[in-house]
Amino acid sequence: MGLVPEIDYGTPHPRGLKGDTDAKMVTLTIDGETVTVAEGTSIMRAAMDSGVTIPKLCATDMLDAFGSCRLCLVEIQGRAGTPASCTTPVAPGMVVSTQTDRLKRLRKGVMELYISDHPLDCLTCAANGDCELQDMAGAVGLREVRYGMEGANHLGQAKDTSNPYFTFDPSKCIVCSRCVRACQEVQGTFALTIQDRGFESKVSAGMDEDFMDSECVSCGACVQACPTATLMEKSVIEIGQPEHSVVTTCAYCGVGCSFKAEMRGTELVRMVPYKDGAANRGHSCVKGRFAWGYATHRERILKPMIRAKITDPWREVSWEEAISHTASEFKRIQEKYGRMSVGGITSSRCTNEETYLVQKLVRAGFNNNNVDTCARVCHSPTGYGLGTAYGTSAGTQDFDSVEDTDVVMVVGANPTDGHPVFGSRLKKRLRQGAKLIVVDPRRIDLVKTPHVEAAYHLPLLPGTNVAVMTAIAHVIVTEGLVNEAFVRERCDWDEFQDWAAFVAEERHSPEAVEVYTGVPAADLRAAARLYATGGNAAIYYGLGVTEHSQGSTTVMAIANLAMVTGNLGRRGVGVNPLRGQNNVQGSCDMGSFPHELPGYRHVGDEATRAIFEDMWGVTLEKEPGLRIPNMLDAAVDGSFKGLYVQGEDIVQSDPDTHHVTHGLESMECVVVQDLFLNETANYAHVFLPGSTFLEKDGTFTNAERRINRVRRVMPPRNGYADWEITQLLSNALGYPMNYGHPSEIMAEIAATTPGFRNVTYQLLEEKGSVQWPCNDQAPDGTPIMHIGGFARGKGKLVLTEYIPTDERTGPRFPLLLTTGRILSQYNVGAQTRRTANSEWHKEDRLEMHPHDAENRGVRDGDWVKLQSRAGETTLRALITDRVSPGVVYTTFHHPMTQANVITTDYSDWATNCPEYKVTAVQISPSNGPSDWQEKYKSHSDLSRRIISVDAAE
Ligand code: SF4
Repeated sequence: MGLVPEIDYGTPHPRGLKGDTDAKMVTLTIDGETVTVAEGTSIMRAAMDSGVTIPKLCATDMLDAFGSCRLCLVEIQGRAGTPASCTTPVAPGMVVSTQTDRLKRLRKGVMELYISDHPLDCLTCAANGDCELQDMAGAVGLREVRYGMEGANHLGQAKDTSNPYFTFDPSKCIVCSRCVRACQEVQGTFALTIQDRGFESKVSAGMDEDFMDSECVSCGACVQACPTATLMEKSVIEIGQPEHSVVTTCAYCGVGCSFKAEMRGTELVRMVPYKDGAANRGHSCVKGRFAWGYATHRERILKPMIRAKITDPWREVSWEEAISHTASEFKRIQEKYGRMSVGGITSSRCTNEETYLVQKLVRAGFNNNNVDTCARVCHSPTGYGLGTAYGTSAGTQDFDSVEDTDVVMVVGANPTDGHPVFGSRLKKRLRQGAKLIVVDPRRIDLVKTPHVEAAYHLPLLPGTNVAVMTAIAHVIVTEGLVNEAFVRERCDWDEFQDWAAFVAEERHSPEAVEVYTGVPAADLRAAARLYATGGNAAIYYGLGVTEHSQGSTTVMAIANLAMVTGNLGRRGVGVNPLRGQNNVQGSCDMGSFPHELPGYRHVGDEATRAIFEDMWGVTLEKEPGLRIPNMLDAAVDGSFKGLYVQGEDIVQSDPDTHHVTHGLESMECVVVQDLFLNETANYAHVFLPGSTFLEKDGTFTNAERRINRVRRVMPPRNGYADWEITQLLSNALGYPMNYGHPSEIMAEIAATTPGFRNVTYQLLEEKGSVQWPCNDQAPDGTPIMHIGGFARGKGKLVLTEYIPTDERTGPRFPLLLTTGRILSQYNVGAQTRRTANSEWHKEDRLEMHPHDAENRGVRDGDWVKLQSRAGETTLRALITDRVSPGVVYTTFHHPMTQANVITTDYSDWATNCPEYKVTAVQISPSNGPSDWQEKYKSHSDLSRRIISVDAAE
């Protein structure tokens, strides 16, 4: 199995100041031992650090000290009473006793009261063996309970089982408030409260609602914090307490949270956020924490399948037949149509090692550069824009950096839905007083959420990002807010002067752009001043920046703002792309683009090619290959005939669905390697079953450039990890690969890629994770980029001329559609739709402003036809003022909606990233699904017919 030994959480402790090297030190005595700790440390923490354990219930290392359970009492010489050690700070010369007879008596009495109002069902309780109340009762020596509380207890309270993933049993609640505090302090949702007072007090979701009806976002923080079986995972109740665990990395979004996969035998019982995970610091969201059931979903395909025509039923075959058939098809196609007639698409869901192997297969096995990745359709402008400005195609900070931020500007991102764990960390910083600017057409949750309110929301019209960013620059320059010292040191001064003259032109002023951006000039001016003068300022942005015809220009406009205000090269500042998929950063790093070898080095560069030619033993093509849209164009033209797609669903995720399907239909061999028969598989001739992140070893690289280990939790149900399948295919094609473990692939990556030079699995075991660059100059990795200088030397300030998209509104299509994600679903929904997460989001809805809805006679919940110049679809309307008049919004998680049917084929000028965020549309009432959707559904059903090996024989 290759399971790694369980790694413990580390010693729990309430927070103190330990680790703050500037703090004054304090020496005291605890139980006769001299202890020296930082000033401000709690007595409980000091005691734990010196090896003394004080009983506790309401304290946990994830939460601020609370002092309510009355178990952690201590005696302090010269002081009256028995203060709580979790809330009492140390003082010089203090003499503390933690284990006197009096304290033991008091603790035992307190515990007796807890237990008297608690079911005495320890032996049958699902938490038996993992219950802090049980442990503490033992620790204080409680053997029997003298009090009966008949008629005045909480034992008869009804259990809430409404949440699909956990239960709430108030009869077991000791009202320690850990769940309430976790919801507030860690998650920042404030869904839980303590209702009533004294003995009547109880934990309540919302206004005494079921969990499912409340504001709860099912992040699991409350379940994790609960010291009893009050809040408990249903999977633990069903399967039993876990016996061992493996630390691994979430395979959903680019936050890259670390989890302990807790197992009972070979069965996964639960995923618990790992407290030592540097990206998530012990927190999680509903996807990583609970939505892993797709791994064993009945629709998962576990046997390879082939078919001659895409209208034929699938035929299950052996792995040997599938691989040799695929290899012979690719060979036949290359012999008939030429070397360039085939290509591959790597996956941002797969590991670095798997992605590296697919691009190696294409370059060395197919002998061309026809490889591309789904980053093409999301963050390719980030690579281009930040590479141009700073010399590195990645974000500048680590997530911890937000703790030192004074001003946060969120542009075209919705962190609480798209990157929830970072969203929670951000909200925490905002609750501590940091200021927030939101630049987004839609009123995302961050604009106003409990205890957080944006200082400015700039609700720009979709497609006007460049104008708004340049107008912010205009204010900074014309109001004298430039950090001249930083610019003189870090940028080319002449270039800066050209840039400053450009942005200072009156046509870039907030007043001039207000008319077409929709952003009030006064708000824009105030936001610009805040960004430039409010202290450490950080920009976080998402696909609302990149998926535009000027996506790369906006990234460079953002990069300009950070440079001219000096907000780079230290904690609390920077430019931070919030990467969508778990390994989108890694798939770009690994050379997935047709013009770049691993490490972002151009295929035309002879010296770089020589490194790989030596390593791979082949002569490499020096011309860039085809991008995904070019592959599809070439397929329609008849020159591109074979495609190997690993872990992507381009029919659902790429623009202009009709064009994508037409391209796929024109090919002779489409190979899809995935977990499920996805929409692209409808056009495939070979299906190779893929493996989940639970079934393989490797690494993911998150949005902070953090390389995190993925560890095998269980054997691959399909027989092979994805990297092994690529290797089998390569060998069958005649290009030998002989890796025994992904660590060997990483060794090859390190040997060929300067930013990964020192990365080894051993280093990752020792450090947990590292952020690239990790080489001789930065042996421990690089949390903050561009300290003291940019990777490219002088930072480059690019003139960012606003060029309106060709996609215009008019009488036929008067509204602008923009798209985004929702918390519970993920991308095209292949995984999350196969979990109980669908209970929160069963269908994509179209958000419309009440004014637009009324004009069209549309009511909330009505079916509407959504039409663009490219196509039409139908879905139901959600009437809300989250969107401005003239703007509509939908998600793209469900195949029957197919939002990309209506998006256009406009794309970013530099990278071809599709312009998903701006489509001119019209909306009209409808009776139900469109003809296209009905036809699509029947085609989809037809192509999914499978003849099993047994049935075929
Ligand atoms: Fe997974 Fe992202 Fe949620 Fe973390 S925030 S648990 S990485 S989906």
